Amino acid sequence: MSIRTPIARITAKSSRPEAYPKPRWRRELATAIRQPEVLLQALGLEHYESPLSRSGFGMLVPHSYVARMRKGEPRDPLLLQVLPGGHESGYAAGYGTDPVGDLAAMAIPGLIHKYQGRVLLLLTGACAIHCRYCFRQHFPYSANIGHRLWDTWLAHIRADTSIHEVIFSGGDPLTLDDRRLSEFVEQLAEIPHLRTLRIHTRLPIVLPSRVTEALLSWLTGTRLQPVMVIHANHPQEIDSEVAQALRRIRTAGVLLLNQSVLLRGINDCSSTLATLSRVLFEADTLPYYLHLLDRVQGAHHFEVSEKEALRLMKELRASLPGYLLPRLVKEEGGKVSKTSI
Ligand SMILES: *Cc1c(COP(=O)(O)O)cnc(C)c1O
Ligand code: SF4
Repeated sequence: MSIRTPIARITAKSSRPEAYPKPRWRRELATAIRQPEVLLQALGLEHYESPLSRSGFGMLVPHSYVARMRKGEPRDPLLLQVLPGGHESGYAAGYGTDPVGDLAAMAIPGLIHKYQGRVLLLLTGACAIHCRYCFRQHFPYSANIGHRLWDTWLAHIRADTSIHEVIFSGGDPLTLDDRRLSEFVEQLAEIPHLRTLRIHTRLPIVLPSRVTEALLSWLTGTRLQPVMVIHANHPQEIDSEVAQALRRIRTAGVLLLNQSVLLRGINDCSSTLATLSRVLFEADTLPYYLHLLDRVQGAHHFEVSEKEALRLMKELRASLPGYLLPRLVKEEGGKVSKTSI
């Protein structure tokens, strides 16, 4: 991948010379847009009429993602995923702060052991984008993340020989540096009963420059079998740079899957979902899950009913080969797996 950012940009924000220039993805993350007004202005939507929310879950969206939005279009499917709308502060019955029972499923702080053989680790609370429908948007990260916990996770996994797969999650685990991630993976690979390393990440979609040689090197250089589950909801999120980044991951030998959330006004249309599957396939990625919305406080306006979801799946089944059909599921507390719809 070519580095297109001019060198001058590297030190533009600081007069202090840096020993090593930050990788491009770090600089892109540092300059991400955090003010809704700035985003609206960048899109030529200064006169946006609807109220905005000032909830604790602030806006975050990097410029490279904004570049994929359509100018002057308030209903743009990428914009709607990130713009904090006024309806977020409304109350909706049945919506909570821990909709999938994360807290009850934590074996020790930051380690979620809900399904047989697989543990999910909350490596960080940070993301490269704030998705307004995120089911962990109210999660108490500070008590459950941090490098200090990693040794307790390793001890827990070492002691439980039924665990064969570790899932890096968060937040987005790929907001951490490759050096730190690769050291942790080396420690995990020493645990004999572990076989699979899975990464749940939206970074290749949001900041394709995150797919560095260093990342591919630790991901494929371990004895553990690598799986990456990315997260795209709409075909417009996958431009040529994203597609190229995805193909590089797959070519390096990583099983590459996508999960989406079914979102009202964004992808609740079978032709959009079919195009998403095809565009993913062209980028060497297979659809995995299509999630019903988790009922998290602030996201009720995105909900698509189960009945509507089933109708969309029926249409999808009629237009796609079986291997491009995502599994429609919902996540519930206290179940042994995700629930198939
Ligand atoms: C979704 C999920 C997994 C992985 O489930 P798969 O069906 O194997 O993809 C593991 N742990 C938790 C807590 C999850 O939410
Ligand atoms: S990237 Fe994932 S964890 Fe982060 S805000 Fe979006 S949905 Fe939530």
